[in-house]
Amino acid sequence: MSRDARRAMVRNQLRARGLRDLRVLAAMQWVPREQFIPPNLSRHAYDDQPISVAAGQTISQPYIVGLMTEALALTHADRVLEIGAGTGYQTAVLALLAREVCAVERLEVLLEPARARLARLGFRNVRWRLGDGAIGWPQTAPFAGVLVAAAAPTLPTALADQLAEGGRLVIPLGSRDEQDLVLVRRRGDRFSERSLGPVRFVPMVSPHAFQSAPR
Ligand code: SAH
Repeated sequence: MSRDARRAMVRNQLRARGLRDLRVLAAMQWVPREQFIPPNLSRHAYDDQPISVAAGQTISQPYIVGLMTEALALTHADRVLEIGAGTGYQTAVLALLAREVCAVERLEVLLEPARARLARLGFRNVRWRLGDGAIGWPQTAPFAGVLVAAAAPTLPTALADQLAEGGRLVIPLGSRDEQDLVLVRRRGDRFSERSLGPVRFVPMVSPHAFQSAPR
């Protein structure tokens, strides 16, 4: 039942909108999204929309998860930093594609269940940190990929600094109500940016979210 719903999600929401990376599609075909959603909402697990979870936070719409993941173009050798792990759904998708995911979440009520879910699903390549993701995770940097799932007005300096040479970073940048999903690519000390379209994420809660890298 949920396997059919997942197959339909991959076909109608991901492929139909142009996502092509077969590894990303296979990862999203594998992760049981219903296990990341409150039981009373699990019938909506594969709907084409974000869903409200605990603590006023949301699990992203499947297409946005796919779009952000594809943009990172990960290989099995890569290490990834994820800011705003929330339910851990995006974490699981990343962990299927990368060597290691370093996941940061500021709310313990979300982080602990996320950690337990991924352990139950058998993941061994995720490191978790409770805290402010706007400062990144300097001890485990640099990262080939950085995925930020909370909106900031501008790119926090620390996250740009922790990106490896040739690395990619995706982040929703803008105001509280509307943002642009931006793909940043590092070449030496230069950072190029490309827009992936309008999005709406919950805000990054941090005093550091306003310390920005030059653009
Ligand atoms: N990708 C998640 C959804 C993330 S919602 C999923 O698939 O479930 C955004 C998350 O960012 C929320 O869980 C919120 O608590 C977290 N967040 C907001 N500001 C943060 C910060 N400064 N550091 C770490 N996490 C933060």
